[in-house]
Amino acid sequence: MKPLAAAALLAALVPAVPFGQSAPSASTGPSASTGHERRGDDCARPPAAPEARHRTDDGHARDRMDLSPAEAAAVETRLNRILDGLVQGGHGPSKSASLRRAAPITVPVYFHVIHAGAQGNVSNAMIQRQISTLNTSYGGGDGGANAHVSFTLKAVSRTDNAAWFGDPERYEGTYKPRLHQGGKSTLNLYSTYIGGDLLGWSTFPWKYKSDPTMDGVTIHYASMPGGSIENFNKGFSATHEVGHWLGLYHTFQDGCSGQGDRVADTPAERDPTNGCPSFKDTCPTPGEDPVHNYMDYGYDTCMTSFTPGQGTRIHNVWTAYRA
Ligand SMILES: [Zn+2]
Repeated sequence: MKPLAAAALLAALVPAVPFGQSAPSASTGPSASTGHERRGDDCARPPAAPEARHRTDDGHARDRMDLSPAEAAAVETRLNRILDGLVQGGHGPSKSASLRRAAPITVPVYFHVIHAGAQGNVSNAMIQRQISTLNTSYGGGDGGANAHVSFTLKAVSRTDNAAWFGDPERYEGTYKPRLHQGGKSTLNLYSTYIGGDLLGWSTFPWKYKSDPTMDGVTIHYASMPGGSIENFNKGFSATHEVGHWLGLYHTFQDGCSGQGDRVADTPAERDPTNGCPSFKDTCPTPGEDPVHNYMDYGYDTCMTSFTPGQGTRIHNVWTAYRA
Protein backbone atom coordinates (compact mmCIF):
# COMPACT_ATOMS: atom_id res chain seq x y z
CA MET A 1 0.00 0.00 0.00
CA LYS A 2 1.30 3.42 -0.93
CA PRO A 3 1.49 5.99 1.84
CA LEU A 4 -1.43 8.38 1.78
CA ALA A 5 0.84 11.36 1.25
CA ALA A 6 2.17 9.86 -1.95
CA ALA A 7 -1.34 9.14 -3.14
CA ALA A 8 -2.42 12.70 -2.48
CA LEU A 9 0.61 14.06 -4.33
CA LEU A 10 -0.08 11.87 -7.31
CA ALA A 11 -3.71 12.92 -7.35
CA ALA A 12 -2.53 16.50 -7.60
CA LEU A 13 -0.31 15.59 -10.53
CA VAL A 14 -3.00 13.81 -12.51
CA PRO A 15 -6.02 16.09 -12.66
CA ALA A 16 -8.73 15.79 -15.23
CA VAL A 17 -8.05 18.44 -17.84
CA PRO A 18 -10.36 20.25 -20.24
CA PHE A 19 -11.41 18.19 -23.22
CA GLY A 20 -8.74 18.01 -25.90
CA GLN A 21 -5.73 18.45 -23.64
CA SER A 22 -3.38 15.91 -22.15
CA ALA A 23 -2.69 15.33 -18.49
CA PRO A 24 0.72 14.40 -17.14
CA SER A 25 1.43 10.70 -17.06
CA ALA A 26 1.24 8.79 -13.83
CA SER A 27 3.23 5.81 -12.77
CA THR A 28 2.86 3.98 -9.50
CA GLY A 29 3.30 0.59 -8.01
CA PRO A 30 0.52 -1.70 -6.89
CA SER A 31 -1.69 -0.98 -3.96
CA ALA A 32 -3.56 -3.48 -1.89
CA SER A 33 -6.43 -5.04 -3.80
CA THR A 34 -9.01 -2.79 -2.21
CA GLY A 35 -10.81 -2.24 -5.47
CA HIS A 36 -11.28 -5.92 -6.02
CA GLU A 37 -12.60 -6.41 -2.51
CA ARG A 38 -14.96 -3.49 -2.81
CA ARG A 39 -16.15 -4.70 -6.17
CA GLY A 40 -16.90 -8.02 -4.57
CA ASP A 41 -19.86 -6.38 -2.86
CA ASP A 42 -21.35 -5.42 -6.17
CA CYS A 43 -20.56 -8.51 -8.08
CA ALA A 44 -21.49 -11.38 -5.83
CA ARG A 45 -23.11 -14.15 -7.83
CA PRO A 46 -25.61 -16.71 -6.77
CA PRO A 47 -23.58 -19.76 -5.77
CA ALA A 48 -25.49 -21.96 -8.19
CA ALA A 49 -24.62 -19.87 -11.22
CA PRO A 50 -21.83 -21.47 -13.20
CA GLU A 51 -19.21 -19.19 -14.71
CA ALA A 52 -20.20 -20.31 -18.18
CA ARG A 53 -23.50 -18.48 -17.82
CA HIS A 54 -21.60 -15.26 -17.90
CA ARG A 55 -19.72 -15.91 -21.09
CA THR A 56 -20.92 -15.44 -24.58
CA ASP A 57 -20.18 -18.10 -27.14
CA ASP A 58 -17.07 -16.32 -28.33
CA GLY A 59 -15.62 -15.86 -24.88
CA HIS A 60 -16.76 -12.37 -23.92
CA ALA A 61 -18.79 -11.71 -20.82
CA ARG A 62 -20.35 -8.34 -20.46
CA ASP A 63 -19.46 -8.06 -16.79
CA ARG A 64 -20.01 -9.70 -13.42
CA MET A 65 -22.79 -7.45 -12.25
CA ASP A 66 -25.23 -10.14 -11.16
CA LEU A 67 -26.91 -10.02 -7.78
CA SER A 68 -28.33 -12.99 -5.92
CA PRO A 69 -32.13 -12.89 -5.53
CA ALA A 70 -31.64 -12.10 -1.84
CA GLU A 71 -29.29 -9.21 -2.58
CA ALA A 72 -31.63 -7.76 -5.17
CA ALA A 73 -34.55 -8.09 -2.75
CA ALA A 74 -32.63 -6.20 -0.08
CA VAL A 75 -31.78 -3.44 -2.55
CA GLU A 76 -35.41 -3.12 -3.58
CA THR A 77 -36.65 -2.94 -0.01
CA ARG A 78 -34.26 -0.08 0.71
CA LEU A 79 -35.04 1.70 -2.56
CA ASN A 80 -38.79 1.55 -1.97
CA ARG A 81 -38.39 2.78 1.59
CA ILE A 82 -36.48 5.82 0.34
CA LEU A 83 -39.00 6.53 -2.41
CA ASP A 84 -41.96 6.12 -0.05
CA GLY A 85 -40.29 8.59 2.27
CA LEU A 86 -39.94 11.10 -0.55
CA VAL A 87 -43.59 10.71 -1.55
CA GLN A 88 -44.77 11.14 2.03
CA GLY A 89 -42.56 14.19 2.19
CA GLY A 90 -44.91 15.99 -0.17
CA HIS A 91 -43.81 14.93 -3.61
CA GLY A 92 -47.23 13.83 -4.79
CA PRO A 93 -50.10 11.47 -4.15
CA SER A 94 -48.42 8.35 -5.47
CA LYS A 95 -44.89 7.22 -6.10
CA SER A 96 -45.35 6.29 -9.73
CA ALA A 97 -47.35 9.39 -10.63
CA SER A 98 -44.90 11.77 -9.03
CA LEU A 99 -41.79 10.13 -10.39
CA ARG A 100 -43.08 9.79 -13.93
CA ARG A 101 -43.02 13.56 -14.12
CA ALA A 102 -39.37 13.68 -13.08
CA ALA A 103 -37.26 16.15 -15.04
CA PRO A 104 -34.89 14.85 -17.72
CA ILE A 105 -31.54 13.80 -16.30
CA THR A 106 -28.35 15.42 -17.58
CA VAL A 107 -25.18 13.62 -16.54
CA PRO A 108 -21.76 15.33 -16.61
CA VAL A 109 -19.08 12.86 -17.73
CA TYR A 110 -15.40 12.76 -16.84
CA PHE A 111 -13.70 10.38 -19.25
CA HIS A 112 -10.45 8.84 -18.04
CA VAL A 113 -8.20 7.19 -20.63
CA ILE A 114 -5.79 4.72 -19.04
CA HIS A 115 -3.27 3.61 -21.64
CA ALA A 116 0.19 2.11 -22.14
CA GLY A 117 1.97 4.32 -24.63
CA ALA A 118 -0.01 4.14 -27.85
CA GLN A 119 -1.98 1.11 -26.67
CA GLY A 120 -5.45 2.14 -25.58
CA ASN A 121 -4.76 5.84 -26.09
CA VAL A 122 -8.14 6.36 -27.74
CA SER A 123 -8.69 9.51 -29.76
CA ASN A 124 -10.87 12.40 -28.70
CA ALA A 125 -13.02 11.63 -31.74
CA MET A 126 -13.61 8.09 -30.46
CA ILE A 127 -14.53 9.48 -27.04
CA GLN A 128 -17.02 11.84 -28.67
CA ARG A 129 -18.52 8.91 -30.57
CA GLN A 130 -18.89 7.01 -27.29
CA ILE A 131 -20.70 9.95 -25.70
CA SER A 132 -22.92 10.24 -28.79
CA THR A 133 -23.73 6.54 -28.55
CA LEU A 134 -24.78 6.97 -24.92
CA ASN A 135 -27.00 9.90 -25.88
CA THR A 136 -28.60 7.89 -28.67
CA SER A 137 -29.16 4.85 -26.43
CA TYR A 138 -30.67 6.82 -23.55
CA GLY A 139 -32.48 9.37 -25.68
CA GLY A 140 -34.53 7.00 -27.80
CA GLY A 141 -32.53 7.83 -30.91
CA ASP A 142 -32.22 4.10 -31.59
CA GLY A 143 -35.98 3.71 -31.96
CA GLY A 144 -36.35 2.31 -28.44
CA ALA A 145 -37.83 4.05 -25.43
CA ASN A 146 -36.55 7.51 -24.56
CA ALA A 147 -35.16 7.24 -21.03
CA HIS A 148 -34.69 11.02 -20.94
CA VAL A 149 -31.07 10.78 -19.85
CA SER A 150 -28.34 12.76 -21.63
CA PHE A 151 -24.59 12.90 -21.19
CA THR A 152 -22.27 15.89 -21.47
CA LEU A 153 -18.51 15.43 -21.71
CA LYS A 154 -16.84 17.73 -19.17
CA ALA A 155 -13.19 16.70 -19.41
CA VAL A 156 -10.81 13.96 -20.51
CA SER A 157 -7.83 12.77 -18.45
CA ARG A 158 -5.09 10.65 -19.94
CA THR A 159 -2.87 8.45 -17.79
CA ASP A 160 0.03 6.51 -19.31
CA ASN A 161 0.48 3.63 -16.88
CA ALA A 162 1.29 0.14 -18.16
CA ALA A 163 0.50 -1.51 -14.82
CA TRP A 164 -2.97 -0.01 -14.51
CA PHE A 165 -3.63 -0.69 -18.19
CA GLY A 166 -2.49 -4.29 -17.89
CA ASP A 167 -4.63 -5.17 -14.88
CA PRO A 168 -7.38 -2.63 -14.18
CA GLU A 169 -9.22 -4.98 -11.83
CA ARG A 170 -6.18 -5.24 -9.59
CA TYR A 171 -5.49 -1.51 -9.64
CA GLU A 172 -9.08 -0.28 -9.47
CA GLY A 173 -8.60 0.79 -5.86
CA THR A 174 -5.59 2.84 -6.96
CA TYR A 175 -6.67 4.59 -10.13
CA LYS A 176 -10.24 5.40 -9.22
CA PRO A 177 -9.60 7.46 -6.07
CA ARG A 178 -6.84 9.35 -7.88
CA LEU A 179 -8.77 10.16 -11.03
CA HIS A 180 -12.37 10.43 -9.79
CA GLN A 181 -14.10 13.79 -10.25
CA GLY A 182 -17.42 15.24 -9.14
CA GLY A 183 -20.17 13.89 -6.91
CA LYS A 184 -22.98 11.35 -6.94
CA SER A 185 -24.58 12.62 -10.14
CA THR A 186 -21.30 12.71 -12.09
CA LEU A 187 -20.32 9.77 -14.29
CA ASN A 188 -16.65 8.80 -14.22
CA LEU A 189 -16.01 6.61 -17.26
CA TYR A 190 -12.67 4.79 -17.45
CA SER A 191 -11.38 3.20 -20.66
CA THR A 192 -8.58 0.68 -20.41
CA TYR A 193 -7.56 -2.82 -21.44
CA ILE A 194 -9.58 -5.55 -19.81
CA GLY A 195 -8.19 -8.98 -20.37
CA GLY A 196 -9.96 -12.29 -20.24
CA ASP A 197 -13.65 -12.41 -20.99
CA LEU A 198 -14.86 -9.09 -19.62
CA LEU A 199 -16.02 -6.02 -21.48
CA GLY A 200 -16.50 -3.79 -18.46
CA TRP A 201 -18.00 -3.34 -15.05
CA SER A 202 -19.78 -0.72 -12.99
CA THR A 203 -20.82 0.27 -9.51
CA PHE A 204 -24.46 0.50 -8.48
CA PRO A 205 -25.97 3.79 -7.24
CA TRP A 206 -26.69 2.42 -3.78
CA LYS A 207 -22.95 1.87 -3.26
CA TYR A 208 -22.04 5.52 -3.75
CA LYS A 209 -22.56 6.68 -0.19
CA SER A 210 -20.21 4.16 1.39
CA ASP A 211 -17.52 4.39 -1.27
CA PRO A 212 -17.85 7.58 -3.35
CA THR A 213 -14.46 7.62 -5.07
CA MET A 214 -14.96 4.06 -6.35
CA ASP A 215 -18.14 5.11 -8.14
CA GLY A 216 -18.04 4.79 -11.90
CA VAL A 217 -17.83 2.61 -14.99
CA THR A 218 -14.82 0.86 -16.51
CA ILE A 219 -14.94 -0.31 -20.12
CA HIS A 220 -12.61 -2.12 -22.50
CA TYR A 221 -11.23 0.57 -24.81
CA ALA A 222 -11.68 -1.68 -27.84
CA SER A 223 -15.43 -1.92 -27.15
CA MET A 224 -15.87 1.75 -27.99
CA PRO A 225 -17.48 2.69 -31.32
CA GLY A 226 -15.14 1.57 -34.09
CA GLY A 227 -13.03 -0.52 -31.69
CA SER A 228 -11.41 -3.84 -32.51
CA ILE A 229 -13.51 -6.39 -30.56
CA GLU A 230 -15.57 -8.17 -33.16
CA ASN A 231 -19.34 -8.05 -32.50
CA PHE A 232 -18.81 -5.84 -29.43
CA ASN A 233 -17.53 -2.59 -30.91
CA LYS A 234 -20.53 -0.32 -31.27
CA GLY A 235 -20.08 1.25 -27.85
CA PHE A 236 -22.90 -0.65 -26.17
CA SER A 237 -20.66 -2.03 -23.45
CA ALA A 238 -20.67 1.52 -22.08
CA THR A 239 -24.45 1.74 -22.61
CA HIS A 240 -24.89 -1.53 -20.68
CA GLU A 241 -22.54 -0.63 -17.83
CA VAL A 242 -24.00 2.86 -17.48
CA GLY A 243 -27.36 1.08 -17.17
CA HIS A 244 -26.02 -0.58 -14.01
CA TRP A 245 -24.61 2.78 -12.87
CA LEU A 246 -28.15 4.12 -13.20
CA GLY A 247 -29.61 1.19 -11.23
CA LEU A 248 -30.72 -1.28 -13.90
CA TYR A 249 -30.29 -5.01 -13.45
CA HIS A 250 -29.68 -7.59 -16.15
CA THR A 251 -32.82 -8.67 -17.95
CA PHE A 252 -32.03 -12.19 -16.71
CA GLN A 253 -31.83 -11.14 -13.05
CA ASP A 254 -33.49 -13.85 -10.90
CA GLY A 255 -33.96 -16.05 -14.00
CA CYS A 256 -37.53 -17.28 -14.47
CA SER A 257 -38.50 -17.01 -10.83
CA GLY A 258 -38.84 -14.25 -8.29
CA GLN A 259 -39.07 -10.60 -9.13
CA GLY A 260 -36.79 -10.54 -12.16
CA ASP A 261 -35.21 -7.20 -13.03
CA ARG A 262 -38.00 -5.20 -11.34
CA VAL A 263 -39.08 -3.85 -14.69
CA ALA A 264 -42.55 -4.96 -15.82
CA ASP A 265 -42.07 -4.60 -19.57
CA THR A 266 -38.93 -6.75 -19.87
CA PRO A 267 -40.19 -10.38 -19.89
CA ALA A 268 -38.36 -12.81 -17.61
CA GLU A 269 -35.38 -14.62 -19.08
CA ARG A 270 -33.65 -17.70 -17.71
CA ASP A 271 -30.14 -17.08 -19.07
CA PRO A 272 -28.04 -14.38 -20.68
CA THR A 273 -28.39 -14.22 -24.45
CA ASN A 274 -25.39 -15.28 -26.52
CA GLY A 275 -24.76 -13.86 -29.95
CA CYS A 276 -27.92 -12.67 -31.66
CA PRO A 277 -30.72 -15.25 -31.84
CA SER A 278 -33.79 -14.16 -33.77
CA PHE A 279 -36.03 -15.69 -31.12
CA LYS A 280 -35.64 -17.02 -27.59
CA ASP A 281 -38.30 -17.77 -24.96
CA THR A 282 -36.84 -19.45 -21.91
CA CYS A 283 -39.44 -18.78 -19.20
CA PRO A 284 -43.03 -20.03 -18.87
CA THR A 285 -44.27 -16.53 -18.01
CA PRO A 286 -45.67 -14.47 -20.92
CA GLY A 287 -43.37 -12.74 -23.37
CA GLU A 288 -40.32 -13.61 -25.41
CA ASP A 289 -36.84 -13.03 -24.00
CA PRO A 290 -35.74 -9.41 -24.48
CA VAL A 291 -32.76 -10.42 -26.59
CA HIS A 292 -32.36 -6.95 -28.10
CA ASN A 293 -32.27 -5.14 -24.78
CA TYR A 294 -29.10 -3.30 -23.74
CA MET A 295 -29.20 -5.04 -20.35
CA ASP A 296 -28.90 -8.51 -21.87
CA TYR A 297 -25.59 -10.02 -23.05
CA GLY A 298 -26.15 -10.18 -26.82
CA TYR A 299 -23.80 -8.84 -29.47
CA ASP A 300 -23.64 -5.08 -29.87
CA THR A 301 -25.06 -5.69 -33.32
CA CYS A 302 -28.07 -7.29 -31.62
CA MET A 303 -28.75 -4.55 -29.08
CA THR A 304 -31.34 -1.98 -30.01
CA SER A 305 -33.27 -0.58 -27.08
CA PHE A 306 -34.30 0.12 -23.54
CA THR A 307 -37.98 -0.16 -22.55
CA PRO A 308 -40.23 2.54 -21.03
CA GLY A 309 -40.17 0.58 -17.76
CA GLN A 310 -36.40 0.71 -17.64
CA GLY A 311 -36.58 4.47 -18.14
CA THR A 312 -38.99 4.77 -15.21
CA ARG A 313 -36.73 2.66 -13.01
CA ILE A 314 -33.73 4.82 -13.92
CA HIS A 315 -35.59 7.94 -12.82
CA ASN A 316 -36.79 6.30 -9.59
CA VAL A 317 -33.30 5.15 -8.67
CA TRP A 318 -31.84 8.52 -9.66
CA THR A 319 -34.31 10.27 -7.37
CA ALA A 320 -33.37 7.99 -4.50
CA TYR A 321 -29.60 7.89 -4.91
CA ARG A 322 -28.10 10.35 -7.38
CA ALA A 323 -30.33 13.45 -7.50
ZN1 LIG B 1 -24.08 -6.21 -16.82
